[in-house]
Amino acid sequence: MRELLVATHNSHKTAEFRAILAKHFDEISDLTALSDAKEPVEDGSTFSENSAIKALAASDLLPSAFVIADDSGLEVDALDGAPGIHSARYSGESATDASNRDRLITELARPEHEGKARSARFRCVITAAKGGQVLAVFDGVVEGRIAESMSGEGGFGYDPLFIPEGYENSFGVLAEEVKNGMSHRGRALKKFCDWLEDQP
Ligand code: IMP
Repeated sequence: MRELLVATHNSHKTAEFRAILAKHFDEISDLTALSDAKEPVEDGSTFSENSAIKALAASDLLPSAFVIADDSGLEVDALDGAPGIHSARYSGESATDASNRDRLITELARPEHEGKARSARFRCVITAAKGGQVLAVFDGVVEGRIAESMSGEGGFGYDPLFIPEGYENSFGVLAEEVKNGMSHRGRALKKFCDWLEDQP
């Protein structure tokens, strides 16, 4: 039986992983299944470093499991790449998705950013690990822009504000399969699946 542990407590991320990886694994669980699993301190300075920190922490907890962890975030050009690796805590330590979106709207409305291009991208790095060792690393990017206002109830995080290139609607409005087919996480997972095919 092939089992996968996804190193996250974020149920939205787990749902996206499940939708894409279900055919490759008999069972997919996340850290909510382990009562003593705490999120490690993400003190890396890149998505890759933080993704490895999460994967290795989960692998230490369950060395026999095949683990993947993603670190992801939004880079907005007008904000010099912010919130970037700080996407989850953009509005402070007790940030919520809603307060992070509010801060993004507030930042872009500042006079110094007004009229600037609203180009942005989601970036994701996935680390696969087992037995406390990194096995492989995959990345994915989706380009787009920040909408003037929020739309849609779907997805999570900044989805209601992010319109992918070639579309008029935000990830909050687009169907789950459409988002998964082109998203940063979907693209990194596609590379992971290709790699998986060659594994024993
Ligand atoms: P992480 O869980 O430390 O990787 O933080 C990722 C943060 O980036 C999330 O809390 C969201 O704010 C944002 N983010 C990452 N991926 C997505 C996505 O697919 N949609 C919307 N926001 C995302």
